[in-house]
Amino acid sequence: MTCKGICIRHRAQKPVGSGRYVSGQRRCQICEIFIRWEGLWCPCCGYRLRTKPRNLKYKAKLRARSKRLEITQPAITVR
Ligand SMILES: [Zn+2]
Ligand SMILES: [Zn+2]
Repeated sequence: MTCKGICIRHRAQKPVGSGRYVSGQRRCQICEIFIRWEGLWCPCCGYRLRTKPRNLKYKAKLRARSKRLEITQPAITVR
């Protein structure tokens, strides 16, 4: 699964006023590009396309937890 350069032909412009996923664009993690494509699979590399943004709630939760750890656990001093 590698980028063959086909995705460039389907490259999507950044939409104004709305999100990329909202305007029907899909993201290929392999090609690292947003494309306008109806299918679920990348026409270029054949990898499954992302149609929804990452779970923001989950991400925020993770960040909050790591922050708390920083506060409760004092830095270990190296001697
Ligand atoms: Zn590609
Ligand atoms: Zn791709």
